[in-house]
Amino acid sequence: MSEQCPNCLSVRIGKNNYGKKTAGVVGASAGTYGGYAAATAGAQAGAALGIVAGPIGATVGGIGGAVIGALLGGATGASAGVILGDVLDDRVLDNYRCLDCGYSFSVDPDSPDDTH
Ligand SMILES: [Zn+2]
Repeated sequence: MSEQCPNCLSVRIGKNNYGKKTAGVVGASAGTYGGYAAATAGAQAGAALGIVAGPIGATVGGIGGAVIGALLGGATGASAGVILGDVLDDRVLDNYRCLDCGYSFSVDPDSPDDTH
């Protein structure tokens, strides 16, 4: 890690990742809501397909569609939240914290030291 504390020049730097953690949780929650909607749609689609096979087919199709919809929605929301949080951490928040003096800072993306 090439980051250095601007206060005491220590290279013992930690990342807070507040944005990633927060946005990941928020994204998972939002994804679960989205997954609920997808589950409802999936259940209807599954039931519509399964109705050809009779009442049992409709039930099995509905449950399968609901489970798949909920899983996809939750996973998609969490992934989107983590990506968003990563951007927040890097661009907005003071994501870096010096482990020696406790100074919090963000890395300037225009810095000439930032060669990666
Ligand atoms: Zn420091």
